[in-house]
Formats: sequence, C-alpha cells, structure tokens
Amino acid sequence: MATENAEITIQFLGGAGTVTGSKTLIKTEKQQILVDCGLFQGLKELRIKNREKFPINESSIDTLLLTHAHLDHCGYIPLLVKNGFSGPIHCTKPTRQLAEIILRDSARIMEEDAERANRHVYTKHDRAEPLYTVKEVEIALEQFVPHDLHEWVVLAPGTRFQFLNNGHILGSAFIELIIENQKIVFSGDIGRSKPMLLYPPQKIKEADYIVMESTYGDRSHHVDDVKLALLQVIEETVDRKGILMIPSFAVERTQEIIFLLHQLREEDKLPRMPIFLDSPMGVNSTKVYEQYPEWQNLSRFTLNTMYDDVKFITNYEQSRAVVADKHTKIVIAGSGMMEGGRILHYLNNHIENDRNTLLFVGFQGEGTRGRAIIEGSDEIKFFGNYRKVKCQIRSISSLSAHGDQAEILEWLTHFERPPKRIFLNHGEPHQSDALRVKLQHELGWKVTIPKLNESFTLTYNATIT
Ligand SMILES: [Zn+2]
Repeated sequence: MATENAEITIQFLGGAGTVTGSKTLIKTEKQQILVDCGLFQGLKELRIKNREKFPINESSIDTLLLTHAHLDHCGYIPLLVKNGFSGPIHCTKPTRQLAEIILRDSARIMEEDAERANRHVYTKHDRAEPLYTVKEVEIALEQFVPHDLHEWVVLAPGTRFQFLNNGHILGSAFIELIIENQKIVFSGDIGRSKPMLLYPPQKIKEADYIVMESTYGDRSHHVDDVKLALLQVIEETVDRKGILMIPSFAVERTQEIIFLLHQLREEDKLPRMPIFLDSPMGVNSTKVYEQYPEWQNLSRFTLNTMYDDVKFITNYEQSRAVVADKHTKIVIAGSGMMEGGRILHYLNNHIENDRNTLLFVGFQGEGTRGRAIIEGSDEIKFFGNYRKVKCQIRSISSLSAHGDQAEILEWLTHFERPPKRIFLNHGEPHQSDALRVKLQHELGWKVTIPKLNESFTLTYNATIT
C-alpha cells in the first residue's frame, strides 16, 4: 500500500498562557475544526481580546466541538455565530442545556452593563455595546447538536470524533478526534480523580497528540474532610444563632454543597434549620442535574432525595422575605465571587453582624469582592454603600472541579506509549511550566507550551487509496 506525507495544522487562538478564552483550531486539507470557543475573562488586558478581530474568517470554520459549558470554553460562541460561523456546534446533551443557562446569563449581564454605561451617554459614537445579546445567544443555540458519550460522529470521510467523560462538571467531556490514522485527544478541563457527584475521568491508552489543559499544573489540593469542615462552620453559626451565607457557582459547586448537607442530614448531624438556594441560575442548573442521573455516581435514593431539604427560591418576593429574615438558616446564593447576584443582598443586610458567617467554597479571582474580603478588607461596597465586614469569614479551599498536578499526571500515566507530542494549554505560565517539567523528566514526553496564536504542523504518513 502506498503512502504519502500529509499534514494537520493546529493553532492556539486562546487559552494559551492564560486560563481563559480556550480556542484550538485544527486545519486539514478538507476542514477547519474549532475545539472550544471560550471568552477571555478576568483582567482588562485579557477581556479586551474579546473585542479584537478574530484571527481567521469565522465563516471559514466548518465545525465547533465543545468540551463543556463553562464560559471560558463556550462564552465566545454567540459572537462567532454573529460574525459568520454557521456550522454545527457538537457537545454532550447536558452541556447543551447548561450552556444555554450560562450563555443567557452572560448576555443578560453584558446587556445590563452596557445599558448602565450608556445612561449618561448621548452620542452614538460613545455608546457601549454588549459583546452579544440574549437574542444572539438564542440564534447560536439553534446550531447546537447534542450527543451521547461514546457516540462516534463523522465530520468528513476519514474524520470523526467522540466525547468521553472527564469528570469536571455535568456534561463535561474530553474529545478523541481521529483524522485519517492520527488520533488527537483534547482533555478539556480534567476533573478530580474522585469527583464528588460525577464518575471519574475515563482513562484512555493511546493518542498521537494530546492537547492538555493545565489549570492546576502546579497545584496540589488539600485532602481535608470537607464534610467535617462544613459541619464545623454550621455548628458554630448555629451556636451564635447566625445566618450562614455561602456564595456559590451555579454549576457543580452548588450541587456539591447540597449533597454534603444531605449527607450530614442522613447521618443525623445537621442541626434543624431551613436551607435556601437563592440563585435563578443555581435552580435552573440543578434541574438539569436532575434530568441526568446516569451521569452521576450517586445512588438512586440520594439522587431522588438530596434536594428535598432545600427550598428553591424562584421569585423576588420570596427572596426579599428571606433576605429580611434574621433567623438562623443556610443560604446558598450566586454569584460565586460576589460580583453580582442575590448574594449581594444577603451581604448588604447581614455582613455587619458578627453572629453571621460568610463561607467561601470556591476560587476568588483577582479584583473581585470575594478576593478583597479573603485578603482582609474591612469595608466593602454594596449598592453604593460601604458596609463593615464584621461577620465571621470561613473558607473551605479543598473543593475543586479541576484535577491537581498529581491527578493530571495519574490520568496521563494510563497512556501506554508517549504521544508524539503533548501541548499544554489553558494554564498560567508557571502552572503549565511545572507540569512540563514533570512530564519531560518523569515520563520523558515531548512537551510544548504554545503561545497565543502560535501554530504547529503535525505531519504523518497517509495511506493513498
Ligand atoms: Zn471548566
């Protein structure tokens, strides 16, 4: 059988040297495939990248493969569609539903921010425009094509892919993309080796190339007993007759906290008090979790009963009443870094009382209210008023949906032979570099840390038919 040299080009249009804006382009002779389409987030110098011209013509992309519903992986999709991308957006079924919730919320916030900025602007030239609108999200959603795990999807003759569980959030997957005789694996955000709710990441044995996210390439998660830590915070808050306020991310973290509370109740350890979930996004996301029991490594009994103890708040009147009430209770509310959402109303009313507790259960990004409080600010502004931080501040730092260095390495050791090359993306430089050193020295792999917009040619012997 005759062979000839063939080429695939891989280009990193985002998520290179940073943990946001994930976008990896694969170019073959026949197709252009984009893997993930995330928003740049965080510091302003990153956020302005979302407004720069896209490096390639959006309409020249044939297909988009989406690993999961977090904004840093899907948040740019409506803009890509608005600027001409008309192909299918392949993802898993839960990802389709969670992406809808997350993208609608993202667009709503962008529209509100633009409106606020324009309140005193009278010339068209100076007007702020949202990156995209809710209406544009709805247009993009029409292009989503949901799939099951392990379902091979053919994109062109010789090109196919499948999604495999990676245990990060509901619906998250890594991708095996086969082009001719080459297999490229895109890890997505790899989850913990023992996720609280989900099945562990599936192990695979071989790949020619791996694109590996390295968010926590230099991190080692504490192995605290999170349930015990949570119980201690609850008990001390109850002793003070206070309110426990938990700012939480709507997807995965909220359901994990509810699961821990449920376990404590089953073990008869949880003091009697009401528990509220006051987050429209949290409530909607939880409904998606309820639709996909097969994705979760929990018993039928747990799946059927874990949300019974929680009162879901679905309208502003209820929310206002719960905010005003000073009785002991637990409130889980968004947003996770206290940059918006209903948690602000709870803090505005209860942060100045030392009987109450504010419990952090997730990462707090630079420049957020959450980070300011963790770093010891004693005054924080809510709705134009400064409030003294007098409530108790507690934190459980070991909850994470990202595998740490040891977990990433463990996942990679299941490969039976080294890939031709592994690309480390989606990490701060020191995170990617720490992982690079480990992979080169311990496994002897060929590692590349791509720069933004850098491209590489992958050559292989193709069979001529
Ligand atoms: Zn993620």
